[in-house]
Amino acid sequence: MFEFCNQWFELFNRPQAYTHTFVKIKHLLKTMIQTKGYAAQTPETDLAPWNFERREVGPHDVQIEIQFCGVCHSDLHQIKNDWFPGLFPMVPGHEIVGRIVKVGDHVKNFKEGELAGVGCLVDSCQVCENCKNDLEQYCLDGNTQTYNNNDRQGVPTYGGYSNSIVVREEFVLHISEKLDLAATAPLLCAGITTYSPLRHWKVGKGHKLAVVGLGGLGHMGVKFGVAFGAEVTVLSTSASKEEAAKELGAHHFIVTKDAAQVEAVKNTFDFILDTVSADHDMNMYVSLLKTDGTLIGVGVPSQYAVHPFALLGGRKSIAGSGIGGIKETQEMLDFCAEHNIVSDIELIDIKDITASYERMEKGDVRYRFVIDIATL
Ligand SMILES: [Zn+2]
Ligand SMILES: [Zn+2]
Repeated sequence: MFEFCNQWFELFNRPQAYTHTFVKIKHLLKTMIQTKGYAAQTPETDLAPWNFERREVGPHDVQIEIQFCGVCHSDLHQIKNDWFPGLFPMVPGHEIVGRIVKVGDHVKNFKEGELAGVGCLVDSCQVCENCKNDLEQYCLDGNTQTYNNNDRQGVPTYGGYSNSIVVREEFVLHISEKLDLAATAPLLCAGITTYSPLRHWKVGKGHKLAVVGLGGLGHMGVKFGVAFGAEVTVLSTSASKEEAAKELGAHHFIVTKDAAQVEAVKNTFDFILDTVSADHDMNMYVSLLKTDGTLIGVGVPSQYAVHPFALLGGRKSIAGSGIGGIKETQEMLDFCAEHNIVSDIELIDIKDITASYERMEKGDVRYRFVIDIATL
């Protein structure tokens, strides 16, 4: 009883003690942003509507009202725990475009009302060697991914299958008003994933580039390869894709199941951009490289299996590349605006997401599904 009275006495005599706590709670309650999204609650369940909260816009943050979000194959892999145990509930989506509705007091490069985009990354350490060299995707302290990750405060990140996102300014991209906005969304992952290695290896005029796989990544690889001036060949297991490949600008098309066609292009390519995530015989592809040629993997098969002689006999390389840094992503978006490059897409209602995943698994999409977030 004494203790109870004592507490009341304290509260009456030191109002600041509880006022402070009360204000803090009120502040937290008031300022979290109520967000609508689609989430997988477990790896066994389909995506379904889910409401959650995002942090209030901090001094260095930008809040984007999301209009479109691309559907990446990695969204499906992550909600199904194909690569590693994920964080659930999981709101996928890392090809995000929309309009800025709020900026923090210290934000310098963005204004309310502008178009903006967010890709696969929402934060990194900003101080390691790679971050300092604009390679946040390879942050030595581990970057923070747009979803299925804990942010640097330990709060789970949620992706773009939602109506709003808050991201620190350094990880927000400028989006041109010139391009079709829905078709711009896939540039944030499929675009930069293919643009970055082609730029890194300086692929361009005088080079013969082969692109393996004609999906979300492959079709962007063809567009960029052609735009950079390379002679582009699509390598495909299916003859039915020839017309589509030529429509994208490819100069040549090879059916890899046809031994004679394969034989005819042995030792001819400077670079092969391999976008395939299903397991495939890399020895055959490496045999198509010239001496000193490089096969660049951007897909995720279960392993890169190649016989040493396939590399030794011709000083050939197999390399990998993952997305791109923020500066390079902006450069890619600006390049696309200048050269009128977007992804070829099918716009979908969010309620059709599971059916779209089924089609995507069969390769039945030209070439990227994009969710119209207005249907959320
Ligand atoms: Zn992706
Ligand atoms: Zn870093």
